[in-house]
Parts: sequence; structure tokens; C-alpha cells
Amino acid sequence: MQSITLLGATGSIGLSTLDVVARHPDRYRIYALTAHSKIDELAALCLRFHPEVAVVGSADAAQRLSRMLRDSGLKTDVSYGEQALCDVASAAECTTVMAAIVGAAGLKPTLAAAHAGKKVLLANKEALVMSGQLFMDAIAASGATLLPIDSEHNAIFQCLPLNYQRTPDAHGIRKILLTASGGPFLNRDVATLEHVTPEEAVAHPNWSMGRKISVDSASMMNKGLEVIEAHWLFGAAPEQIEVVIHPQSVIHSMVAYADGSVLAQLGNPDMRTPIAHALAYPDRIDSGVEAIDLARIAQLEFHQPDYERFPCLRLAFDALQAGGSAAAVLNAANEIAVEAFLERKIGFRRIPQLIDLVMERLPVAAVNDLGSLLEQDRLARAYALELMHA
Ligand code: NAD
Ligand code: MG
Repeated sequence: MQSITLLGATGSIGLSTLDVVARHPDRYRIYALTAHSKIDELAALCLRFHPEVAVVGSADAAQRLSRMLRDSGLKTDVSYGEQALCDVASAAECTTVMAAIVGAAGLKPTLAAAHAGKKVLLANKEALVMSGQLFMDAIAASGATLLPIDSEHNAIFQCLPLNYQRTPDAHGIRKILLTASGGPFLNRDVATLEHVTPEEAVAHPNWSMGRKISVDSASMMNKGLEVIEAHWLFGAAPEQIEVVIHPQSVIHSMVAYADGSVLAQLGNPDMRTPIAHALAYPDRIDSGVEAIDLARIAQLEFHQPDYERFPCLRLAFDALQAGGSAAAVLNAANEIAVEAFLERKIGFRRIPQLIDLVMERLPVAAVNDLGSLLEQDRLARAYALELMHA
């Protein structure tokens, strides 16, 4: 029986995870559920899944949730704040941690799970993009198991040989082919991109996701973050990672081998597939996702990405090449820019411009510990805000 801490239970990945968990009460039970501010939603999830602990963002929220749970006769312990998130991610009572908080807010709890040697199911790509080597070192030192939830990386994982050791050359791997839908603006006139609204940006053609990752998909920063994620997860050099536009989102990614074989993983675009895969690995379980109907899909298309239309993709490759703090700076500037775009403070095209300026201004620094990483994150955020208000 796996005992799960679900970080970010009220989000898109969180709810898909609970949907899979609920199908297999013989395999999984919930130890802890966390949410930032959606207290009513979290209370409803607690009533359904009876966690031992629930964690929220503030003392006020904790008080409200405690009262609601007590009134319903639940004995769930309620706590709040970052340390409480780290505590449930590393608790002896849990075997498995689903890291599904969005953005840098998930870094410390996800790292705590890695240090504690848990089975870590990683959806929170920003945590890995920021901390790179530190994160992979923590996994190696504790003997934790790291399984990717991001659909592309889960697909790649499924196409790799058993006991893959993060050395593509040693396994006869030529390239990792990361597929991208291209998002809602794939074919839109570039000249009109400045005026797109948050509503248009979050309307993804194939996937239903949280707001931040939806904007990242529209700018293709999501694919950029995924390139960096693939580098760390699979030990692939930047030149070994190729982005392929595939608007149908049926092939979730591919691995090209030295003998000319290309292995792909296909499925309907539904995150319950990678979630079920990682939860049950190496077994296979029902995820609730329907079988794919290839005759109905009929056509699969592939194109090269357009770096003029999607400058964020180039910026992410640049950050990966630069190494050190560059990816953390890219991520921090992007989080600030995306939030500002969602709040209608800046236009869509300003997102890559701001990131570019922040990366130019901040010299690449070595990141040897969490302290220096958090300092670079702080500097990049402060500078992005300053530029925005200049
Ligand atoms: P979401 O916005 O739907 O949910 C985010 C969750 O994080 C919520 O439960 C929220 O309470 C919690 N949260 C937000 N801010 C927090 C904070 N400051 N402190 C603690 N908790 C906080 O996001 P999502 O779409 O589920 O994405 C979650 C992560 O998974 C992201 O890193 C995203 O890139 C990744 N991911 C998502 C998908 C998808 O299909 N949604 C696919 C691949 C990867
Ligand atoms: Mg993805």
C-alpha cells in the first residue's frame, strides 16, 4: 500500500491524481493533502479522502479549515506554511510524494521529499528547472525514486531502456524528440500577438491545465522549461534535445536510437495516463482514460518550431547552455512576467522581452547550495519587477 502526500491537491494535476487514486483504494491511501487558498475545495477533498494531515497557506485559512473539518467530525490535523509542506513531504508515514504545486513555491517541499528518499512523482517542473544539479544530487544521495509526470518526460521515460543511467550515449540514444502542440497561437498572425488576452492565452487546444502552465504553453516557455527538465532527468546535452511541433498532441514524445529506431508513446491528452503510470510503476493500472481511436485522429503532423514567433524557447536553450544560475533566473523572470500578463499589466510579447533583459543584466553565478539559488531567484524577481515599472 502506498501512502501519498499530495502537494497541490486542489490544482489540475492534484485533482487528476485523486481521480486515479480513487479508482484503486487497494493500492493507495492519502496521508496528506495541501492547498494554498482554495479552502472549501480542500475541505471537500478531506471529507472524501480522509487524510491524516492537511496543509494550507496561512494561519487564517488553517483556522477556517480546522473548524470546517471538526464540524464534519474529521480528525485531520491542519497546519500551514512552507515548513509544514516540507514536513508532510518528508514524513515517515508517507511513501510517495506527488509534487504538483505550481512554480517556485514547490521547490522546498519537493526538495524535502527528494532528501527524505521518497518515491517522488514530479509535476512541478519549475522546482527541477531552478535547482537542477542540487535536486538530482539529493535524489542520488537519498536513494529516492524520481518519476516524471510531465506527459513528455513520462513518455520519454517509457521509451527508454530499463535501468537507464542518465547517459544517452551509453544506451545508443541519438536524440530526445520533445513534442509540443504549439499552443493556441501556433498559427496566429505574429503581429497580433501583442494584443492577445489572458483568456485567449489560457484556452489550450488540447489540454486542460492551470493558468500559469497554460500561458507558458502559449508562449512556448513551457517547452523551454521542459527542455531544461529533460536535460536533468535524462542527462541529455542541449544538442541532443530537439523540439518538434505536433499539433494533435497524440505522440507525447520520442526517443531516437543509433540504429535508426524511433520509439514513441501515444495516448489521448489526459494527465491521468502519466499519473497512473508513475503511481503504479512498474505495474500498469486503469487510469480512467479512454483507448485512443487512431482512425478518428487519422493524421499526425510534425513541424519545426518557429523561434521568431516563440522567443521563449530560444531563451530557455540559452539558459541551459549558460548553466549555473541562468535557468533559475529565467524561471523567476518568467513567473513574474506571466503573473503580470494574467493581471493585464503587460502585453503577451513583453513576457520574453522582460526575461531577456533580466538574463542579460544578471551575470551567471554558481549555484552550490539552496541559499545561493534562492538569492538568484530573489534578485531575478526584484529586477523583473523593477523593469516592469520602469
Ligand atoms: P494549478 O494552478 O491548477 O494548481 C496549483 C496547485 O498549487 C494548487 O493546488 C494550489 O493550491 C497550489 N499552490 C499554488 N501556489 C501555492 C503556494 N504559494 N504555496 C503552496 N501551494 C500553492 O496548476 P497545475 O496545472 O496543476 O500545475 C501544477 C504543476 O504541474 C506545475 O508545475 C505545472 O507546470 C505542472 N504540470 C501540469 C500539467 C497539467 O496538465 N496541468 C502538465 C504537466 C506539468
Ligand atoms: Mg508537458
